[in-house]
Amino acid sequence: MAERLIVIGGDAAGMSAASQARRRRGRDDLEIVAFERGHFTSYSACGIPYWIGGLVPERDQLVARAPETFRDEYDIDVRLQHEVTAIDLDRREVVARDLAGGGEVRAGFDTLVYAVGATPRLPDWARSGVAGVFGVQTLDDGAALRDWLEAEPRPRRAVVVGGGYIGVEMAEALVQRGLDVTLVERGEQPMSTVDDDMAVLVAAAMRGVGIEIRTGVEVTGLTEQDGRVSAVVTDDGSLPADVVVLGLGVRPNTALAEAAGLPLGPSGGVQVDRRMRVLGVPGVWAAGDCVETLHRVSGLPVHVPLGTHANKQGRVAGINIGGGYATFPGVIGTAVTKVCELEVGRTGLRERDAHAAGFEFVSVVIESTNRAGYYPGARPMTVKLIAERPSGRLLGAQIVGWSEAAKRIDALAVALWNGMTVDDMTALDLGYAPPYAPVWDPVLVAARTAVDALATHSR
Ligand SMILES: Cc1cc2nc3c(=O)[nH]c(=O)nc-3n(C[C@H](O)[C@H](O)[C@H](O)COP(=O)(O)OP(=O)(O)OC[C@H]3O[C@@H](n4cnc5c(N)ncnc54)[C@H](O)[C@@H]3O)c2cc1C
Repeated sequence: MAERLIVIGGDAAGMSAASQARRRRGRDDLEIVAFERGHFTSYSACGIPYWIGGLVPERDQLVARAPETFRDEYDIDVRLQHEVTAIDLDRREVVARDLAGGGEVRAGFDTLVYAVGATPRLPDWARSGVAGVFGVQTLDDGAALRDWLEAEPRPRRAVVVGGGYIGVEMAEALVQRGLDVTLVERGEQPMSTVDDDMAVLVAAAMRGVGIEIRTGVEVTGLTEQDGRVSAVVTDDGSLPADVVVLGLGVRPNTALAEAAGLPLGPSGGVQVDRRMRVLGVPGVWAAGDCVETLHRVSGLPVHVPLGTHANKQGRVAGINIGGGYATFPGVIGTAVTKVCELEVGRTGLRERDAHAAGFEFVSVVIESTNRAGYYPGARPMTVKLIAERPSGRLLGAQIVGWSEAAKRIDALAVALWNGMTVDDMTALDLGYAPPYAPVWDPVLVAARTAVDALATHSR
């Protein structure tokens, strides 16, 4: 009889695991059942802002593989609108609620993949059920927001609460739809994924496209009129709103895992080993936004909910379940985004992370351009490097610039991954031609400046 693999969560991590396992083990050897509580499989949550903003016209363009594809081509039994409500490790079965048809399903497993993603942080005021308030965690969430934006009466004023990268991307999307947008952030700057001295550039670009930013402001409640949200109440007055988008961050979705007794780590995510096996629980695997992982620079366990990791981790789990050998070696915190034309990239530790991890370091910020100064389209680029003192090892990097900035972070990510010092980096053989870089690429200028800063400190 075939073994049965059950996957909980039908997006990046879960379906990567399922399809990799299927590639290695046929139907007669391994039956695969995937439970997904929403309406979609393998969708790009990352693409939601671009669909909301109108850059991507069709919702289905965000779906990499539809449930039918998994059923027909991969022989994976996808059960949509089935929410798993319990995992029973003793009986080795899951209990799922059929959200469409009603009733409960029980399904036994030999192997389980826990891939339920993350849970948005929701303060009490956001739980009131007022119409017009949206998170954007899943494609179903995105679809609900888009329906609201397109229904009459058409919303004109939007408030985005939370200035992380999702809040910033959503603010941009709403501006592109023609709404008046205010972003409320409790901290000193939006885009706290970079240090404040870099985030200030992002805030300026946001203001430049008409986004009003209110920092140091805490939301305390909502008001409604005729059953619809009408304002966001803050400790600094009320902001009129016809639609509210929440971007307050996420935490690992571990409710089911905790109830079942799976181990959780200090960051709150499910603890896994490098092959994505849940620690101490044979036959159970976990991947994606619900797990914690190793930060290769700080050496600390971290929760970094990004699609790039979810896909890789799911793939690793699936290869191993399929009988192969694969490992996930941890993360270094590389991420990119943009606000209209302004691009933002980061990798490694920010200053505050480097402090928290106990490093001695120098940090330098340089101004350069994306192309030779005389070449058409040359625009400013700011690069920040953080290097350990006295070793000179690169600990982190951030780039903000108008074009060709974000993906420049990849060169720095490779340097950091390989433990290079800023001194080594000054000699890197990076590409140069006037349309692509000044003769000294901004990355090399930053490395040279960091070497100088280290020398000054050692005197
Ligand atoms: C707006 C937005 C923009 C983003 N942009 C980027 C980006 O640019 N780059 C990047 O790397 N990452 C980005 N991300 C993050 C990325 O989308 C996530 O890291 C990735 O989707 C995580 O994949 P996952 O499979 O772990 O979880 P999810 O994609 O959250 O999938 C989990 C699935 O499990 C289902 N589920 C949950 N509980 C149950 C249950 N009890 N029973 C059945 N099903 C359940 C959910 O419905 C969901 O479909 C973005 C996310 C958002 C929301």
